[in-house]
Amino acid sequence: MTGPEPVPGDARPSLAVWKFASCDGCQLTLLDCEEELLALAGAVRIAHFTEMSRASIAGPYDVSLVEGSITTEEDARRIREVRESSRTLVTIGACATAGGIQGLRNFAASGEYARAVYAHPEYLASLDTSTPVEQHVHVDLALHGCPIDRGQLLEVVTALLAGRRPVLPGHSVCEQCKARGTVCLLVAGGTPCLGPVTRAGCGALCPAVDRGCFGCFGPADTANTEALARRLISDGLATDALVRLFRTFNAGAPAFEKEGRAHEPRHPAS
Ligand code: SF4
Ligand code: SF4
Repeated sequence: MTGPEPVPGDARPSLAVWKFASCDGCQLTLLDCEEELLALAGAVRIAHFTEMSRASIAGPYDVSLVEGSITTEEDARRIREVRESSRTLVTIGACATAGGIQGLRNFAASGEYARAVYAHPEYLASLDTSTPVEQHVHVDLALHGCPIDRGQLLEVVTALLAGRRPVLPGHSVCEQCKARGTVCLLVAGGTPCLGPVTRAGCGALCPAVDRGCFGCFGPADTANTEALARRLISDGLATDALVRLFRTFNAGAPAFEKEGRAHEPRHPAS
């Protein structure tokens, strides 16, 4: 990595932002912190953030934010370099924490999606799987969501600057529905909703506009997916729809992956 040298005497902690297989939505959440961005830029030295600037200062870095999943050999090599150059590594978003939407390839025959989408899939050099960063290197902290929540991101950065543990929710979206007074879609209307097993963070955005939660913040700390699946099936949800519900943005998160696999159709042995 090349670029301008840090200003001598600049004691601010350095922050680097890295992109792997992702849509950039989580990095944009950082740029969306419009009111706080100037204060943040004053408190940290933004050393590497290609979404924002071509300038890049060589590591080591105090904090690295990592967006995206590992989908190529090159990614697997590069994430080890990022780890080695970072004192604290924070994964941001469903791609980095659970493999993301691209993790759906983990449930298909190798190359099936590539053949469906590309005229010449033979030119692609990607792995058969999309895996979360923590399957490759040690992760100090994970921020969930697709995309992540702006408030949670600021909480993590300010907590790290202050040398304390960030306060992040482990409870479910259901509690946020109750807090904002949203009538339960599942109980009142039988709408399939992953709110009971999904980590809070969005403020129960979808139920507030009459849409069931599809789990973009990934599993809550104590997600009883088995009980929810039983309830959804007894409400009439077909098993293929149930599997799809668990396989969206966080298909590779262990609790959702396990529940999805439990309801896959069993093929007779050939
Ligand atoms: S988690 Fe969602 S918003 Fe963030 S990079 Fe991945 S696809 Fe984009
Ligand atoms: S309600 Fe569920 S799907 Fe909607 S934003 Fe929140 S976590 Fe994501």
